[in-house]
Amino acid sequence: MMRLPHWIDGEPREAACGRWRAVFDPARGEPFAEVADGDAQDVEAAIAAAERAFPDWSSLPNGERARWLERLAEALEAQLDDFARAESRDGGKPLRLARELEIPRAVSNLRFFAHAATQFASESHHGQAGLNYTLRQPLGVVGTISPWNLPLYLFTWKIAPALAAGNTVVAKPSEVTPLTATMLGELAARIGLPKGVLNIVHGLGPAVGEPLVTHAGTRAISFTGSTAVGRRIAGLAAPMLKKLSLELGGKNPTLVFADADWRAHLGTLVRSAFQNSGQICLCGSRILVERPIYAEVRDALVERAQALRLGEPSDPDTELGPLVSQAHFDKVMAAIARARDEGGRVLCGGHALDRPGWYVAPTVIEGLGPQCATNREEIFGPVATLQPFDTEDAALALANATDYGLCASLWTRDLDRAHRLAARLRVGMVWINTWLMRDLRTPFGGMGSSGLGREGGFEAMRFFTEPRNVGIALR
Ligand code: NAD
Repeated sequence: MMRLPHWIDGEPREAACGRWRAVFDPARGEPFAEVADGDAQDVEAAIAAAERAFPDWSSLPNGERARWLERLAEALEAQLDDFARAESRDGGKPLRLARELEIPRAVSNLRFFAHAATQFASESHHGQAGLNYTLRQPLGVVGTISPWNLPLYLFTWKIAPALAAGNTVVAKPSEVTPLTATMLGELAARIGLPKGVLNIVHGLGPAVGEPLVTHAGTRAISFTGSTAVGRRIAGLAAPMLKKLSLELGGKNPTLVFADADWRAHLGTLVRSAFQNSGQICLCGSRILVERPIYAEVRDALVERAQALRLGEPSDPDTELGPLVSQAHFDKVMAAIARARDEGGRVLCGGHALDRPGWYVAPTVIEGLGPQCATNREEIFGPVATLQPFDTEDAALALANATDYGLCASLWTRDLDRAHRLAARLRVGMVWINTWLMRDLRTPFGGMGSSGLGREGGFEAMRFFTEPRNVGIALR
């Protein structure tokens, strides 16, 4: 069986305790690999390696750090197919999604922040009190913690700006999907990235994530994952006054107005609910539809959802794969049972597939109001609810009726309404007549229970640097 070690100080390492954990193939429900089951000793070794590497890495000219990220991007691109296959197997996602979207995006993340390293600039202020200029210096060793739903995509989204800004990194991928991060560690060693610059430590959240957060050696933590774990991390980091970025869960609304060209956008509407089996933080899981078109939109969505091809992730025709793990499958099935208990009508799906692996049929539910747990709590599976509305204000009230505030998509041809609502939706990101359209320079993140801070572009470069103002008297 394949064994996935940590990558510490440029080398593969077993866990100090010698333990391994099984890694499962979600399409079969069987283990296909083992990953190092790390603990605080491994975190300690990785932080020590990162501390040794920091002085040289942080004093490289920005253009040289950019070159390293470019080289890593090139090496990843050259092996795109291998990485896509690995990502598909590890997470159960359709190979096509990994090959056409996720691994290319990981390449783009590395390239984008290679450019950012050379384009990032700091401010100067004059005319009020002498001359002031701001240094933006790397923090030191930083920790990144990422989830299983977009494994390499989100892993690189964090390490790339951290490295570009001159930090050294200890990264903890999800124990559920550790394969591509390990492969990237190997690739980094192969291209000769200086030892200790990028360290990867595997293991469970409490055993590896928490020591990474509480270790005095990590100057900042960038976390993407669930709101519950985000809260736990915030509680651990707050007394240390440690810098934190938290990208958490969502319960995103999709607002469809009667004037929308919704038939032309039906494919995107369906994708926004079900892509990656709904396991994307940006998926629209609450579909709000203006009453005059409600029945028509509902029937069209149900028809399309039923036509989605579930199957073997490696099959090029597969549109939806299984859920990522037994635990997550159980959680999603329990959420569907709860929706029924709350009085929801299951219009399609609502059941597991009768085949090996953790497959759940795309599920559309109606008849539940905004107060139901089904419409308030994140499910993170192929489950969407439908609610009708009568007025713009009612749509806004429904959209804002959760503690989450990650993103919303808005479907209308009325430009005034689009801008009016975009300014009033309580979310970090709004898409108008589109979904998941990404310009990597824009601020990415949510409000309320969806997180703290923003990633993307210079927001990320600012997070991973400390500003220091220098004031000079001018006589
Ligand atoms: P999770 O919170 O269970 O785990 C995320 C990471 O945190 C994993 O690496 C895990 O090992 C680690 N972890 C777990 N407990 C920890 C602890 N006590 N201390 C430190 N680290 C700990 O989330 P998940 O199930 O892997 O991912 C799904 C969640 O991620 C969903 O809620 C989804 O909405 C969210 N997500 C958010 C975004 C975003 O950008 N806002 C993007 C993707 C996923």
